[in-house]
Amino acid sequence: MDFLPLFFDLKDQQVLVFGSGPAAVRKTELLLRAQTKVYWVCEEIPEHLVSLDPISLERVEEADLAPWEQVHMVVAATEDAQQDELIAQKARQLRLPVNVVNRAALSSFIFPSIIDRSPVLAAVATGGELPVLTRLLRNRLESSIPHAYGRLALLAKRYRDEVRSVLPELNARRRFWERTLEGRFSDLVFSGREREAEDVLQECLKQAEADHSPVGEVYLVGAGPGDPDLLTFKALRLIRQADVVLFDRLVSEQIMALVRQDAEKINVGKERSRHSVPQDSINDLLVKYAKAGKRVLRLKGGDPFIFGRGGEEIERLAEQGVPFQVVPGITAASGCAAYSGIPLTHRDYSQSVRFITGHLKDNSCNLPWHEFVHEHQTLVFYMGLVGLPVISRSLMEHGMPGDKPVALISRGTTRDQHVLVGRLDNIAALAQDEKIKAPTLIIIGDVVKLREKLNWRD
Ligand code: SAH
Repeated sequence: MDFLPLFFDLKDQQVLVFGSGPAAVRKTELLLRAQTKVYWVCEEIPEHLVSLDPISLERVEEADLAPWEQVHMVVAATEDAQQDELIAQKARQLRLPVNVVNRAALSSFIFPSIIDRSPVLAAVATGGELPVLTRLLRNRLESSIPHAYGRLALLAKRYRDEVRSVLPELNARRRFWERTLEGRFSDLVFSGREREAEDVLQECLKQAEADHSPVGEVYLVGAGPGDPDLLTFKALRLIRQADVVLFDRLVSEQIMALVRQDAEKINVGKERSRHSVPQDSINDLLVKYAKAGKRVLRLKGGDPFIFGRGGEEIERLAEQGVPFQVVPGITAASGCAAYSGIPLTHRDYSQSVRFITGHLKDNSCNLPWHEFVHEHQTLVFYMGLVGLPVISRSLMEHGMPGDKPVALISRGTTRDQHVLVGRLDNIAALAQDEKIKAPTLIIIGDVVKLREKLNWRD
């Protein structure tokens, strides 16, 4: 280990900073955030810093020796290699910790990259020489530590003494905090529902005292159209903490790989005309597991409220008094449109977009076709591949021109994405020739023409 990571309390301590460039400004800002008194050798203190904290910041002259005798730490960021070296030398002579920006070899300490969820802080460093790598790592951490972590820590701290007195035994206390911080309490804090979170914490504490099983919960989560990078942070967090996962055929393998290894995984996937688990049994399973105290993840392709039957599932949970939360996902229309270069509502071509189910019961055409035939409107059919001949014929019968552009996007956003572009009067035949397979989304409208110019992926 070349550097030992430490967290310094610099409140009311004094630091001497040299330099007028952006690095010096950044370090000064950081020091002010840590409530440090900064003596700054610079041309001029930028206005925004003066207003930020006029008291803790003092400009001093290079020749002024007084600060050297008072400070606890030195930062050199003059952008002049020789001058920085002299400052470092002097600091070392005085046994003061010194940082020379971007020169770890001259520094006795380095500034890590910080993820600030005060009072929770995470710091990353790569030895001071690889700022880009540090930044990449920082971004990863940034996305895995919810912004409300600070609030979570403060709230949990308030209950520390109470928990200690109710659960004097260390292991019981540890178990309690693990369960509570990984469960509904944290989710409620993250959703800004702190009053309810406190109730849950009290409830969990009562249960822990009586050693009962904790309250379970169902997470109805949208997994997006396939590319795992399109998951939301919240979806990822819940995927990682679930005890049981009920998933659909549409959820990609890469996303399933993010589920905890020891979690129970149940495939309730539906294929057209071959329902592996009937909807009613899925609803029952969700209730059963949640009531057994499990954190149950109901993972669905796309968005759970768009042709996802998510509503039916949580209706049952609501009736049964099972707590649940819903996490939206990127729906196939957004994902497929973005990844195939078709802006659904480009101002020159379309002012509205309709999401329509193409699942035609018994091949009947009981959809309001006349409403679909409009200039400046984009149509998106979900589950429409089998019904494509009926869909295209019906639209033409209701007056849509046969040369209206149509795109079929199969396995959109995944590495196997396939896009077939045609016209309303030939798309059904083309799809048959090319043996297009589900899941496929159908986009109909003049915006499809834009793909020629805007396709950025295939
Ligand atoms: N809740 C989902 C839709 C479920 S209905 C969502 O919001 O996306 C299933 C239909 O969605 C499929 O028949 C197909 O039309 C469409 N679909 C879902 N994922 C898709 C993908 N990756 N590529 C193309 N179409 C997709």
